[in-house]
Amino acid sequence: MDNKLKGKIKWFSKEKGYGFIFGEDKKDYFVHIKDVKGEDIPQEKDEVEFKVIKNKKGLKAIDVIIIKKNKENQRKKLAICQHCGKEMVPRVIFTQGVPRGSICPFCGKTYKVFKASEEDLTAMYIIMGLVLFFIFFVIMVGAFS
Ligand SMILES: [Zn+2]
Repeated sequence: MDNKLKGKIKWFSKEKGYGFIFGEDKKDYFVHIKDVKGEDIPQEKDEVEFKVIKNKKGLKAIDVIIIKKNKENQRKKLAICQHCGKEMVPRVIFTQGVPRGSICPFCGKTYKVFKASEEDLTAMYIIMGLVLFFIFFVIMVGAFS
């Protein structure tokens, strides 16, 4: 069988690494994480496309591609902390009302540092300009005194 089928994830256990797809032909297909393409972990109601093979245990989905994430799942999309390895929703931290980055709510370590905004860069250039002018001024005064 080489035909592609479409279906929806019926359930998927991240811990166990497998679940079932409810196919458009109203059959259930076993799906293992290693047969899912890409880095995404399937979640309930995600729309998928897959091929079917038959093994001793029954029908099995392979070459599974997630074609559409369920919107509910998208909203609660979690990040994985590089430090403690937990799944979490990064907490944004502010400095003087400006978002500076996000941290892991479990271990408190930095998840992401936001790039400096254009305003920050402009301020930096002005300060650098003033410093250069001051140095130039000091040299000039030194040269003529
Ligand atoms: Zn963490």
